[in-house]
Amino acid sequence: MRISGITPSGHPQLGNYLGAISRWAAEGGPSDLYFVSDLHGMTTTHNPAGLRSRTSEMLAVLIASGIAPERVFVQSDLARELGALTWILECTCSYGEAARMIQFKEKAGGRSGVRLSLLTYPVLMAADILLQGADEVPVGEDQQQHVELTRALARRFNSTYGEVFAVPEAVLPLTGARVRDLADPTRKMSKSARDAAGVVFVLDEPDLVRRKIRRAVTDAETVPAYDPERRPGVSNLLEILAACSGTTPREEAERHGSYGALKAAVAEAVVETLRPIRERTLELLADPAELEQVRKAGAARAADRGEHRLSSALRLIGAG
Ligand code: ATP
Ligand code: MG
Repeated sequence: MRISGITPSGHPQLGNYLGAISRWAAEGGPSDLYFVSDLHGMTTTHNPAGLRSRTSEMLAVLIASGIAPERVFVQSDLARELGALTWILECTCSYGEAARMIQFKEKAGGRSGVRLSLLTYPVLMAADILLQGADEVPVGEDQQQHVELTRALARRFNSTYGEVFAVPEAVLPLTGARVRDLADPTRKMSKSARDAAGVVFVLDEPDLVRRKIRRAVTDAETVPAYDPERRPGVSNLLEILAACSGTTPREEAERHGSYGALKAAVAEAVVETLRPIRERTLELLADPAELEQVRKAGAARAADRGEHRLSSALRLIGAG
């Protein structure tokens, strides 16, 4: 069983959709279980109401994109179970192990007022994985160290207290296109980017999408060509167009004789790709009953799946 999470650290953007969510929704997608990891969105200063609404939005986008509702849940709906398991795993983890995490060093480095949860969130991530009994976790390079920690904690718990947890393996995710920021094509597009000018959000109105694409940074040439190293801006547009159209960037370069024509084609392709997702997401958000139902059922299934592991772990470690 495979599990993947996505943190509502911002509004879902085109790169999340083309690179991940559209794959998740496809037949034989990379995981069996997808969750909105809202608890992971609290490790730095956050706005509670904003987090809550981004969580609903992310869940709605996952469903609207075609991921089967029975594969989806929201992490905080399991806050009690995950809180308990995180504590057990923290009692299985050394301080040094957590402090060695590269992500922690990068994000905490030199700052004051760093939340303790920024240090311990990889242990919560271990709880996410181990509670559900996942044996494979599709993750990018930046999360591999956290899966290594998860493996170490699962093994240590099993050998110290008794066999409870499957030891999961990190597997390379099936990735789609890598989408770059339209205003700064040296950076990837991110939902948590501070400047949204170059970020197309899944819920942006079509005219706003067109405007952002029209203003995309290119270069001093006039005829499109695919050369990601030297011409990252125009190559990004070609990649986006290819991902939306099921073609290749080189084919698209041949098809469009000017930057203006290319941008117009990219804008229409993106608007049309996002249209059904956007419309369905807005419908789901307008009538929360359906989403509430999905959340409740998802939470019940996820809690059931983990119940025996959590109660065994509590008993074996000497509690309950
Ligand atoms: P953050 O800024 O919080 O890191 P993000 O937009 O980078 O947000 P992640 O939560 O890090 O998104 O990643 C969610 C999924 O989306 C991952 O599978 C990741 O590989 C994919 N993804 C994120 N950004 C892009 C992008 N620009 N192009 C393609 N895939 C992306
Ligand atoms: Mg990211």
